[in-house]
Amino acid sequence: MLVKTHVRVLVIGGGVVGVSTLYHLTKKGWRDVALIERTELTAGSTWHAAGLLPLFNMSYTVGQLHKYSVDLYKRLPGETGQDVSFHVTGNLRLATCRERMDEYYKYCGTANTIGVPFEVITPQRVKELWPLLELGGNADTPAIVGALYHPDDGHIAPADLTMALRKGARSAGAEIYEHTEAVGIERTASGEWRVRTGKGAEITAEHLVLATGNYARQTGQLLGLNVPAIPVEHQYIVYDASPELKAYRQRGGRELAVLRESDKSYYLREERMGWILGPYERGAPARFADGVPEWFGRSLFPGDLDRLVPHVEAATRRVPALEHCGIKDIVNGPISYTPDGTPLIGPAWGVPNVWLNEGHSFGITAAGGAGWQLAEWIVEGEPGIDMLAVDPRRFGPYTSKRYVVKKNEETYRSVFTVHFPDEERPDARPAKTSPVYDKLSARGAVWGQRYGWERANWFAPPGVARRDTWSFRRSNYFEHVGSEARLMRERVGVIDLTPFTKHEVTGPGAEAWLDRLVANKVPAKVGRMALSHALTVRGGIRSEFTITKIAEQHYYVVSAGAAERYDGDYLLKSLPADGSVGLRNITNARGCFVLAGPRSRDVLAQLTDTPLDNTAFPWLTAQVIEAGLAVDVYALRVNFVGALGWELHFPVEYAHHLFDALFEAGAPHGIGMVGMRAMESLRLEKSYRMWGSDITPDYTPFEASLDRFVRIKKGPFIGRAALERQQAAGVPNRFVTLEVHEVTDADPLGNEPLFDKGGRMIGRATSGYYGHCLQKSLAIGYARTELATPGTELSIEILGERKPATVLPESPYDPDNLQLRA
Ligand SMILES: Cc1cc2nc3c(=O)[nH]c(=O)nc-3n(C[C@H](O)[C@H](O)[C@H](O)COP(=O)(O)OP(=O)(O)OC[C@H]3O[C@@H](n4cnc5c(N)ncnc54)[C@H](O)[C@@H]3O)c2cc1C
Repeated sequence: MLVKTHVRVLVIGGGVVGVSTLYHLTKKGWRDVALIERTELTAGSTWHAAGLLPLFNMSYTVGQLHKYSVDLYKRLPGETGQDVSFHVTGNLRLATCRERMDEYYKYCGTANTIGVPFEVITPQRVKELWPLLELGGNADTPAIVGALYHPDDGHIAPADLTMALRKGARSAGAEIYEHTEAVGIERTASGEWRVRTGKGAEITAEHLVLATGNYARQTGQLLGLNVPAIPVEHQYIVYDASPELKAYRQRGGRELAVLRESDKSYYLREERMGWILGPYERGAPARFADGVPEWFGRSLFPGDLDRLVPHVEAATRRVPALEHCGIKDIVNGPISYTPDGTPLIGPAWGVPNVWLNEGHSFGITAAGGAGWQLAEWIVEGEPGIDMLAVDPRRFGPYTSKRYVVKKNEETYRSVFTVHFPDEERPDARPAKTSPVYDKLSARGAVWGQRYGWERANWFAPPGVARRDTWSFRRSNYFEHVGSEARLMRERVGVIDLTPFTKHEVTGPGAEAWLDRLVANKVPAKVGRMALSHALTVRGGIRSEFTITKIAEQHYYVVSAGAAERYDGDYLLKSLPADGSVGLRNITNARGCFVLAGPRSRDVLAQLTDTPLDNTAFPWLTAQVIEAGLAVDVYALRVNFVGALGWELHFPVEYAHHLFDALFEAGAPHGIGMVGMRAMESLRLEKSYRMWGSDITPDYTPFEASLDRFVRIKKGPFIGRAALERQQAAGVPNRFVTLEVHEVTDADPLGNEPLFDKGGRMIGRATSGYYGHCLQKSLAIGYARTELATPGTELSIEILGERKPATVLPESPYDPDNLQLRA
């Protein structure tokens, strides 16, 4: 029975994630909050979870959320009086090959930068910690070559954890209504949300949080949202008591660490003197793509032993004690997944004040951090840490049901595969392609996928196999990427950047509106452009836009391809209500070819009558031109590779013609295609920051040393007050470009810690690559301001090894931009 009919926030879903969100809202001082649950708290996936709390995660954001959870769960019993059965057993991840050790060392960089304690240990130490384990060394059971040990994590009782969070929330004033299902949601005239429950009662809320686990798609549909979260079957085996384990414990042995044999894709932990064994199997099917059937309720699926057998056999070889225990039970339940395996935490798109906390596959581990940051976001208007990696708007309209099913099944079976930085998973591809996809394939494209789009990572020359050997080190494509980079620097190359996000902003209010959104001055003259950053209220960088004035009251706004929904939603929700600004997403209406290199002017000149010399068409200007047969081509004299050149944004129907025309005109100049990896190398040589990795809400434009793109005196804009405060207080970090010395085969790739001469961690690299034209290994990132001056000697940890690094002046290649201005 509903007591309240109006609250500030209504959370829908009483699993661990919903209850944690409620708890954290009260911690932020919002007490007029409630939660509704269709049956009973924990009735969803929470009740049957194995309760593991792995701190290991390759993501900088998710790692921070998990760390917060583990810290919270330790203090929760003291705060609430409710025990949560947190067994801090430690967590041991075995490695049986060099690539796995590379993965662990790569992870250590992230762990260092977020302060997660860990140890990389030897096989001997593994045996000391886990005496019941065989170190192996034969064909069936490969030798352990090392392991990653987290002393601080372990396992917890998920229901007890939920009850502790419930207690904390309720004692601070939150209400919880069980047996109350949300069956309808509508917007009230005043802009609030009215939720109709199964019992006919209604409750109105300023904000809605959807935390409905396996029901995410159904709940989303109540609001017209296609939420890309579909569960996959996940099972674990519960074993009877183990005589060997009993004997070990009777001898005084401590509870064994949670064990993960990543190369055999399973976890193993103690449970009542027996074991729980959980594999991530191949062939586990997605379930409930069309919604959870009424009959499912608290039920489980029947166990599928065939899928489990290879993992049981591998585990038994590694831990022979398993052989002497009977199987007591198989738990096979739905586990929510998203196409990249990372949850959806943050604003829903297109609807105001609706928040998602859905798609959790490690929800027991993530619940604390997810509730913490979502509450921060709701109450403060933005999160306290960079949440781009979990923002629900990182996915777009391309997440059809079949796409999500395929990707989620792939992600599930890949949980324990080595997470190579250049990995490109094959399922559900190709989905979105540029019109010239086949032409690029014919030129040897080796494809990757981002935001559903196929993008050519590199081009295999004739006779070279068109495949990647994924690695943490320089790999098979290294020299070919180098050739592409040199082509761009020495002659002329084309990059297909059709996936760019493109918006058209028009109307009498366009200029003033954009000007308030970004820190730079929006161009006032037709044909001018400005690199502009939309900031958060805290002054962090939320988006990067290239804003070009095409005509009076007409702006062309370009941002990262992966930011289509993220930026589009922000722009849409920020529009003035008076109708003075028109906003149109024209991403799919225009293609984009980057034509760049010293010969680019000679090539383009053959296709257009528009004068291209420096006086008629200077750097950082734009014109609407004809190119070959194509009309209405926006030619922007700007690019991300630091060369003379143009971005040609053309009506998409001209893609084939323009492509052929460019290659015909470019043939005498040696024109060729250039892929994403060469672009990465070229942009690092110019210290160009990439949105999403180098520029994020964690850093202000001053920290990013983008001061020249901030016009603090131009008038009010979002984030200005924070920038003024930072200016007065002093900028704590500064952007650095580093030359890394003594690199043999492992270049920095981002997320490596930086150290000063005394060995203190003083910053982090956010990107890195080999600069093929400079022939230097390069990293860019952030260091404490006093250590960011050129010439400073630092060191960087790459795959467990400290390498000396020198801070370089910005833009080590062509620092005066002579080529861009040529
Ligand atoms: C076998 C198995 C083992 C697992 N082991 C682990 C583990 O060791 N560690 C780990 O971190 N994670 C583990 N997980 C994953 C974990 O269980 C989930 O990530 C987590 O429980 C998700 O919590 P939740 O609150 O998002 O969803 P749920 O617990 O599913 O809660 C969602 C709730 O929303 C309610 N609801 C739905 N629709 C409505 C509506 N319209 N109105 C009102 N209420 C509604 C549901 O009844 C449900 O109670 C495991 C999962 C499985 C299947």
